[in-house]
Amino acid sequence: MGTQVFSLILLPTLKCNADCDYCFEDKTNDRLSLERLQVLIDKVLDHLVEKDIPELLIHWQGGEVMTLPPSWFARAYALIGEAAEQRGRVVSHGLQTNMIGYSARWDPVIREMFDNVISTSLDYPNLYRRRVGQTVDDYNGVWLDKVRLARAAGIEVGVIAVPNAATLALGAAGFYNHFVDELGIRSFQVNTPFPGGESNTAKGLMPLGGDTLGRFFIELAEVWLARGYQQGVRLGPFDELLAYFSGTHCVLPCIWTDDCANHILCIDPRGNVAQCDCWVASYPDYWFGNIFECDSLSTMLAGSAARERFHQRPMALVARDCIECDYLALCHGGCPVRAFSVHGTLFEKDPHCALYKTLFGHLASAAARMARVSAGEGRA
Ligand code: SF4
Ligand code: SF4
Ligand code: SF4
Repeated sequence: MGTQVFSLILLPTLKCNADCDYCFEDKTNDRLSLERLQVLIDKVLDHLVEKDIPELLIHWQGGEVMTLPPSWFARAYALIGEAAEQRGRVVSHGLQTNMIGYSARWDPVIREMFDNVISTSLDYPNLYRRRVGQTVDDYNGVWLDKVRLARAAGIEVGVIAVPNAATLALGAAGFYNHFVDELGIRSFQVNTPFPGGESNTAKGLMPLGGDTLGRFFIELAEVWLARGYQQGVRLGPFDELLAYFSGTHCVLPCIWTDDCANHILCIDPRGNVAQCDCWVASYPDYWFGNIFECDSLSTMLAGSAARERFHQRPMALVARDCIECDYLALCHGGCPVRAFSVHGTLFEKDPHCALYKTLFGHLASAAARMARVSAGEGRA
């Protein structure tokens, strides 16, 4: 079966009200007009028709999306819905925001366009996320006020966190307690760090590979299995890996797809098209083209030498590095941008390879253990 859901990471603005030390975005005042959005979405949906893909999932990111007014999103939602209907496609929307610009004015559009679910970012302890000219403590305070306000309005807030050196020093239990017990978060995701874009001190200190980061991930999986899994707390990527090894439906993160270039694309407000947000922001040599300068997105993608290199990567890694790996069919060599930001080439496996192998083994054992327990209960 071919791709059923195509993901578009759409950056309608490159403006941001924050100034995080590890940011890889080129923050400018560029923003997408509704007229240009119409052109862009027509071409993206025509590409789906050409490739016979029924569904589009748009991940709205920035910059910071909430530097645009909610009325812009309401009009974008209507415009996209109409274009999708004309082509018999289904479009759904996800929102990634730092929450700084959130107010009750956003509630109607969050309800209608985003099904009352949003995703935000917070690290713990926070070393790097800050508002322009402010401290990390100021960010934590503003963020928490806004998250509480949104939840009081009935909005489900998910969190993406990236572990840093202070997270590893704190340990998995303290990290989990903060998000679940102290903040009341029921759905969060821990991403492996990578030094995307121009290097700086914060990126130089990122924990990459190494035993300590691996131990943190395993301990966090254990804490979640003991205290969150059966209580309905969703913690990625552990919940999806557990589902994978249990043989139930799962949607794995993009870092473990067979070839992310078949399923995902990113477009910035200037129309630049690349694999995902870090590529479009930081690596112009890897742009696939510009959507406003082509007649057909399908033709542009088919003729892109940069995109072809993404397609070649999984097979090249299988032939050289990953052929003996028990988890090849799951991992496919991991994430291209993590490999590129560390090794300067696409044709290396993900720098978190050792961590992934340990994590896969751990969740596979947990799934087998659970299957034995439920088989025993069935017999009892
Ligand atoms: S909120 Fe996002 S885009 Fe803005 S500075 Fe932080 S990491 Fe960069
Ligand atoms: S490069 Fe990595 S983060 Fe970007 S889409 Fe591919 S797998 Fe996902
Ligand atoms: S875990 Fe490592 S060796 Fe196995 S497929 Fe992934 S990158 Fe390759």
